Amino acid sequence: MSRAYNFCAGPAALPEPVLRQARDEMLDWRGTGMSVMEMSHRSDEFVEIAETAEKDLRELAGISDDYAVLFMQGGASGQFATVPLNLLGENTRVDYVNTGIWSKKAIAEAKRYATVNVAASSEDRGFTTVPDQSEWNTSADAAYLHYTPNETIGGLEYDFVPDSGRVPLVADMSSNILSRPVDVNRFGLIYAGAQKNIGPSGLVVVIIRKDLLGRARPETPTMMNYQVMADNASMYNTPATYSWYLAGLVFKWLKEQGGVDAMEALNYRKSKKLYDYIDASGFYANPIEPRFRSWMNVPFTLADDSLNGAFLKGADERGLLNLEGHRSVGGMRASIYNAMPEAGVDALIDYMAGFVKEHG
Ligand code: PMP
Repeated sequence: MSRAYNFCAGPAALPEPVLRQARDEMLDWRGTGMSVMEMSHRSDEFVEIAETAEKDLRELAGISDDYAVLFMQGGASGQFATVPLNLLGENTRVDYVNTGIWSKKAIAEAKRYATVNVAASSEDRGFTTVPDQSEWNTSADAAYLHYTPNETIGGLEYDFVPDSGRVPLVADMSSNILSRPVDVNRFGLIYAGAQKNIGPSGLVVVIIRKDLLGRARPETPTMMNYQVMADNASMYNTPATYSWYLAGLVFKWLKEQGGVDAMEALNYRKSKKLYDYIDASGFYANPIEPRFRSWMNVPFTLADDSLNGAFLKGADERGLLNLEGHRSVGGMRASIYNAMPEAGVDALIDYMAGFVKEHG
């Protein structure tokens, strides 16, 4: 059996030791005679799996008791509606920053429930930069300020945490959670779809400051009500048990690797060598202002678009998979989350350099 280097944006590569452990525990989880998939979510065994995962996540991300951690469903896209439904309260106004396709989706959904003020946008600059915070037109009375710290499709990542004053800061960290240290205390709410840096799809992790609970609009579906989820330890209904278990294995693996600090060093190195190579190649290009280049998602184009097919075919043959860029932007994209080893990036650069020799 040979494992490929999978550069998919999500669902993304998982750490191999995690998959091996899941395989070993598949038929009989620790003498229970059953798979985690087959366990009651109310069993002592599963409750322990769930609680341990939460404890490890709290430790990894430095989440204090002032915050609730929720393991919900409906993906990050579900949160686009869940956030306004829960945080608006009596307010009608919310602030959003528009830095790419995921920001736009969050804005479009919020507009169904609230008056959205787009406080800043880099759309007129092709989403290649983050507007300087001094230019943001935020509202002092907004229910919250929402932004997308890492735009998965554009490959744009903030290198700062916005200052939202007394307004709760809300972040869609789907594609960069746990990739480097973040001060959770700066945020009112963080959410992240699991299928990039946490585990399999089917799970969305929500970290919410407890004073923001209990404000849901009356029409909020019960399943989307943060207070209900918090009161029921995310088990109001049957949660995504297997995804939760695998997330727990990923958290343990992360701790063994040295936690988020170690990931920061690794992710910096991996992304820097790829961008350095792209810039020096004279053949590949990345359009993002260097300061805001994502450490997780690296889009690039070839000097000649008509070579895209040959590039992807050759990459596939070498076990470098899923390098095709998002259908909305074209070109290539290498997603290099925590689980992508440095050797995978080295193999990619090696292939890219060989391709230039042949076709450049
Ligand atoms: N936000 C961001 C930043 C994403 O990258 C994605 C998924 N690629 C989403 C939201 C949507 O996530 P989901 O598919 O879990 O709804």
